[in-house]
Amino acid sequence: MMKRIQMLIGGAWLDAFSGDISVIRNPATGEPVAEAPVGGREEARMALEAAWRAFPRWAGTPAEERAALLHRTAELMRERLEEISRWLTLEQGKPIRDARKEIMLTAKVFDYYAEEGKRIFGEWVPTGTPHVRSLVIRQPVGVAAVIAPWNYPVELLAWKIAPALAAGCTVVAKPASAAPVAATEMIRALHDAGLPPGTINLVLGPGRTVGAELVENPIARKIAFTGETETGRWIMEKAARSIKRVSLELGGQSPMIVCRDADLEKAVAAGVRRAFSNMGQICISVNRIYVAEEIADAFIARFVERARSMRIGNGLDPEVELGPMFNEEVRQKTREHIADAVSKGARIIWGGREPDGEEFRRGYFFLPTVLVDVSHSMRVMREETFGPVAPIMRFRDLDEAIALANDSPYGLAAYVFTHDIRTAFYVAERLEAGGVGVNINDVTELQAPFGGWKESGLGRELGRWGLESYLELKHIRIALD
Ligand code: NDP
Repeated sequence: MMKRIQMLIGGAWLDAFSGDISVIRNPATGEPVAEAPVGGREEARMALEAAWRAFPRWAGTPAEERAALLHRTAELMRERLEEISRWLTLEQGKPIRDARKEIMLTAKVFDYYAEEGKRIFGEWVPTGTPHVRSLVIRQPVGVAAVIAPWNYPVELLAWKIAPALAAGCTVVAKPASAAPVAATEMIRALHDAGLPPGTINLVLGPGRTVGAELVENPIARKIAFTGETETGRWIMEKAARSIKRVSLELGGQSPMIVCRDADLEKAVAAGVRRAFSNMGQICISVNRIYVAEEIADAFIARFVERARSMRIGNGLDPEVELGPMFNEEVRQKTREHIADAVSKGARIIWGGREPDGEEFRRGYFFLPTVLVDVSHSMRVMREETFGPVAPIMRFRDLDEAIALANDSPYGLAAYVFTHDIRTAFYVAERLEAGGVGVNINDVTELQAPFGGWKESGLGRELGRWGLESYLELKHIRIALD
């Protein structure tokens, strides 16, 4: 039986007014797994109006009551872990162990903001006049429209919904059209936890209509978006019309610098994981590897050995490390980036094609790919491939590596591997990125800010910074005489 999901507007589960349905397919097999309504501008407007009506009550709800509902949501996510993770693998392709990790992290995000919402403090500030006092308070911005992509369809939506609700905003959420099922289950958890009608709303349908309405309609006071840089640019332009608050988490092209004193085994393991997990469809994936000349041969040999040993297959198999890519479009872009690199002199030393075998025929599978003899004239080194490709380039001195790493319009994450604390700081302080991992291949930490420099975005999510972006300051000036 195929699953049928619906939108949630004003507390009611609804189909699209047009009756239109889209079929969600398993990227590993091509089989249909679910049906989703294809909503339009009218449903988006209705959801915004429901959120707007619900706003005064939710904004006035004591932080402790809001926290209890968010904790209950986290509990429900954990209770439903197996079911939601399975849907995530079925619609997105990622290995089931990665899907479970995403759902568990999502539950943590709700727990974290439940507590953080209790710490929205105001402050008294000194004044220039006797008998006058100044109080600064923080209040929710209003209705928040939150839009997420398909690579982490649940977690990236939660990064926005949890702080928005904790701040006292009401929310209209729009997941990616092609992977809306597990995200809908998260919205169900919020609904089942007992959020008042209209506090959380879910709209399903294309970005160019449903998403555009959320961005253009003056009811939404805040847009939180994760997705491609081009979409972010469009959103920023449109949001300017009504001076909406925007947070944009956009594309990345993350460099990894491996210094000559790095622990080779650890650097190889970290690089392979971050270049290929989720099939490279991660904004903070390792996209370019710069290795010190002295250790380059050994690094490349170990890297290829590990890449070759990765187990590829249907994500539902618990042993699988790499599932399929999400769709033919991303797989084709990966092929084009590899072909461009080869035409300019790169050599493929592993991968570069689909794996052999009948079990891979119907899915969007692709081998993890290692390229050498690469240069910055190639698309793999300049654009976001969003596929499982690791181009490796040699460097002679650190300043050259830093200059190469910074030679990009993107600035989301960067990584450096070294045993020397001075080198670590020398490099980390000079890299143009919102997050730098030193001897670690992830810059995501629930309590720390996540976001990009340059064309990788605007604003920060997670930590107290993620909450601030849903709050407005208000200065209350009081005459005492
Ligand atoms: P898109 O920008 O195509 O889509 C993201 C979301 O925006 C989807 O829900 C989409 O809807 C919606 N959307 C599309 N057009 C509009 C519009 N005009 N107005 C409003 N909403 C719109 O990105 P992808 O889904 O392809 O995701 C991959 C991208 O996400 C990569 O570039 C990746 O780097 C980035 N990303 C960034 C992260 C970060 O934190 N910086 C983290 C993860 C991913 P629909 O699905 O219906 O098209």
